[in-house]
Amino acid sequence: MQLTFLGATGTVTGSKYLIEHGGARVLVDSGLFQGLKQLRLLNRAKFVVPPSSIDAVVLTHAHIDHTGYLPVLVRDGFRGMVYCTASTLDLCRILLPDSGYLQEEEARYANRKGFSRHHPALPLYTLVDAQRALEHLMPMAFDRNFDLPGDITIRFGRAGHILGAAFVLATSAGGSILFSGDLGRPGDVLLQPPADPPAADVVVLESTYGDRRHPAGDPADAVAEVVTRTASRGGVVLIPSFAVGRTQTLLVCLARLRASNRIPPLPVFLDSPMASDATDVFIAHPADHRLTPEDVAALRNVAVVTHTVEESKAIDARRGPMIVISASGMATGGRVLHHLKVFAPHHRNTILFSGYQAAGTRGASMLAGAETVKIHGGQVPVRAEVRVLDGLSAHADADELIGWIGRMPAAPHHVYLTHGEPTAADALRRRIHDELGWTCDVPAFRDIAHL
Ligand code: ZN
Repeated sequence: MQLTFLGATGTVTGSKYLIEHGGARVLVDSGLFQGLKQLRLLNRAKFVVPPSSIDAVVLTHAHIDHTGYLPVLVRDGFRGMVYCTASTLDLCRILLPDSGYLQEEEARYANRKGFSRHHPALPLYTLVDAQRALEHLMPMAFDRNFDLPGDITIRFGRAGHILGAAFVLATSAGGSILFSGDLGRPGDVLLQPPADPPAADVVVLESTYGDRRHPAGDPADAVAEVVTRTASRGGVVLIPSFAVGRTQTLLVCLARLRASNRIPPLPVFLDSPMASDATDVFIAHPADHRLTPEDVAALRNVAVVTHTVEESKAIDARRGPMIVISASGMATGGRVLHHLKVFAPHHRNTILFSGYQAAGTRGASMLAGAETVKIHGGQVPVRAEVRVLDGLSAHADADELIGWIGRMPAAPHHVYLTHGEPTAADALRRRIHDELGWTCDVPAFRDIAHL
């Protein structure tokens, strides 16, 4: 069995791993590169093997940095099936068309304003490309084996992280590889903790927070503090949020804070049709989350959901303290950009990021203290308070990653660390070597491992 690293090397985006065995090719994850321009350009490069030569794709979870390249693969000739869990399939039905729409919207906007260096600017893929990709998705159960071409057997295990997220065990006569996908946390508001890892010869482990510990304590305390302080100065709390997972956590958290009178009774607006659709998927898959019926009711009732562009614009014209939750979570696109243009220039407001901000995103530069941020070709001053909620992360921190991999029934031959910025991956590499005594490397783009 041969494993080629085609993404998430030295970065947290673009997850793609090619397994080759017995004349078959299986791609684990098919993620979009996001953030830094040199990475985004890889989305437009010719794929390393002809997509028509790939027999099957397996998805760990629905996030675009793990699925958003599928429309390109299908458009360019992939004809096989894409296997994922049932919740992942339902979330992909929301996320992939939205990604296609955003690609088209970005190109249209660039052409209208004339700020693209390409004339005309073309979308990476379209809404129709994304819809065609969805036709290839096939739902499979957790904890059951299924067979792919090349006598490769696949099994999904629960990874926490987001609804439907799985770690993937790929087994063949040539050996076994465990892909962690993105690992969640013990004590997550929405999801059960990740299941213990099975034995495998090789592990591909994410390392997003490989050099960090999440703050102890309840993240709701931080939300209560920021909301109360911002409201006392008459400001707006704008929360750029990831539509899937983070938004639902925030809604449950705000409902609990409001019920216990720990925040003032401010209006809450959920300005993300996608987040509202994702909430419906949560409600439709009760076996995949740990919410009580009261929490589920709160998911439906705590926020005013806006659908039309007019309703979205009306939020910006409102006065007085309020909470606005809008996508995207790293302010790379979506409706939140329009809200940022209105709310970022004023001292009384707070921009509250809800999780990890990848290098090169507007979120990362605002958190680093940028005085202006470029939106739609213009410079927007950032005078609002800028904060981040680290404690709401859907990713295991360094201790939790070591704890999870350390529960393998036997030591693997080799651990490869991906899905982390270089310093995070290297810090985790040293800990796995020193604390577990295992062979561990951080692969580079297009590196090949032979089993
Ligand atoms: Zn993810």
